[in-house]
Amino acid sequence: MMRTAVLQAPRRFEVAERPTPRPGRGAALVRVAATAVCHTDLSIYTGQHPGVRYPVVLGHEATGVVEAVGPDVRIPVGARVVINPIIACGACDCCLRGDENLCRRAGLLGRELDGSLAEQVVLAERYLHPLPPEIGLEAATLIETLATVHHAQRRVRIDPGDSVVVLGQGATGLLHTRVAKLAGASPIVAVSRSAWKRDLARRMRADATVDPSGRDVVAEVLALTAGHGADLVIDTTGDPRLVGSAMEMLRPGGVLLLYAISHEPVQDFTTFPMYVKELTLVGSRALVPADFEPAVRLVATGAVELDGLITGSYPLHRAAAAFGDYERDPDRVLRILIVP
Ligand SMILES: [Zn+2]
Ligand SMILES: [Zn+2]
Repeated sequence: MMRTAVLQAPRRFEVAERPTPRPGRGAALVRVAATAVCHTDLSIYTGQHPGVRYPVVLGHEATGVVEAVGPDVRIPVGARVVINPIIACGACDCCLRGDENLCRRAGLLGRELDGSLAEQVVLAERYLHPLPPEIGLEAATLIETLATVHHAQRRVRIDPGDSVVVLGQGATGLLHTRVAKLAGASPIVAVSRSAWKRDLARRMRADATVDPSGRDVVAEVLALTAGHGADLVIDTTGDPRLVGSAMEMLRPGGVLLLYAISHEPVQDFTTFPMYVKELTLVGSRALVPADFEPAVRLVATGAVELDGLITGSYPLHRAAAAFGDYERDPDRVLRILIVP
């Protein structure tokens, strides 16, 4: 038997004993080391995420150690792994194009399928990415997020010397700031209302930080780019009210990467700037398996440091407290961990 934290209904956790799953052909049983909780989990917890069926076991940003394997598995028992939570069919037109993130029958671990808020989880081997010994299993839970950032920045092109604005400096904003810096972007302007997040952005080597509550961000960006406007704006807030000013702070020919999403309509949106400034709007969804290896390498080489992004840790039986604290004060959280 194993313990698992089941979300019976929005805001109602129950710790339950369930039979330990057995790995079938091509699959492995993973003892979960830690799960990071993100905004997607929070929206499932509060009942705001559309289309979720309860009860559900949350958890999709997880690491662990392979404990047992089924037939035809190459990964050894004892391997330390980070989990790819995008469960794709492998057979639809999107999967065959290599776009597993767009799979027409895709499910997310911890949403359509029971996730990692459990002591153990069974996954097909192809969803397990080995971790080198120098990366700690708790920090490595952030590699899934880093892989989504890598995926998004691969969909735009950042050349050395490009000016990049990153709206929002939560965990994903900070990682975007860091990865853009590694690509040679300059200047990188990090925008956040929180002073402590702007401090972290400077540690990620942002060239300038802007507090949008005290400053006109568009004017600041123009001043920092010799009046030209930015080459690229990355929105990590998903706030539909920022789309208009994001388009305003771009140079003609600039690119807006809509990394974070919202179900709210964008008010007063017109397509005219797309014509007059010939702007490009780019969407990005999750990650593909090929994003894991470069993300692991960024952490293993020390180019990206993840430890500072973990702002709290709770044992599995206190999952309800973890989510309660997160909901009460989301601005103080980067990532919280749940450790079985
Ligand atoms: Zn997530
Ligand atoms: Zn598919």
